[in-house]
Amino acid sequence: MKNLKNALLLKQLYRLKQLGYQYTSVVPFQEEEEDLRLPDTMDKLKKQAEACHLCQLSKSRTHVVFGEGDPHADIMFVGEGPGATEDSMGKPFVGKSGGLLTKMIENVLLISRADVYICNIVKCRPPENRTPTETEAHTCTPYLLKQIELIKPKIIVALGATAYHYLSGDQSPISRVRGNVFEKEKYILVPTYHPSYLLRNPSAKKEVFEDLKKIKTLL
Ligand code: URA
Repeated sequence: MKNLKNALLLKQLYRLKQLGYQYTSVVPFQEEEEDLRLPDTMDKLKKQAEACHLCQLSKSRTHVVFGEGDPHADIMFVGEGPGATEDSMGKPFVGKSGGLLTKMIENVLLISRADVYICNIVKCRPPENRTPTETEAHTCTPYLLKQIELIKPKIIVALGATAYHYLSGDQSPISRVRGNVFEKEKYILVPTYHPSYLLRNPSAKKEVFEDLKKIKTLL
């Protein structure tokens, strides 16, 4: 970036020299200040995320998985990042773990999946479903923070350690914090196990059932 800036500056100076200038005290080339604020509507934010190339995940993605659901939902579910099915369809939690999440929402919370909002820490699939790197997560979280700002949910359910870690800044193991109710400035954060973990460890379903019952009383 700095090299490009210098090259453009030099080009401008040569042009001025050709015009007869021998000395100038003004900065002849001024780069336009980029507007780095994210848009204030969900549609525009989605479009911006869909055109994002800020991290390496953009190179291998098929679709950006921005998120879906009620933009005025009281409850938001945040996972880690899209898997293969989500990447191919452009929608969050539509694979096997998505099926389980839908059951958790509809059979335990007794609300329709369409009435909540579902998204992830990173909007593009990490190759081989690896955990997103710190850089990838930090590069992508401004989109999530803007989604939270626009939706204004009462409760955010962090699905798994990665979602909890980046939403809270806390590195505690998910097994220690799950089911706790953390009062944040603008919403309540409740971490629980990720549905993929439940598919591998079905015996943990009873703990998630308890967490969801608690969330139901909060709603
Ligand atoms: N796992 C996640 O964390 N998010 C999805 O969207 C799908 C699987």
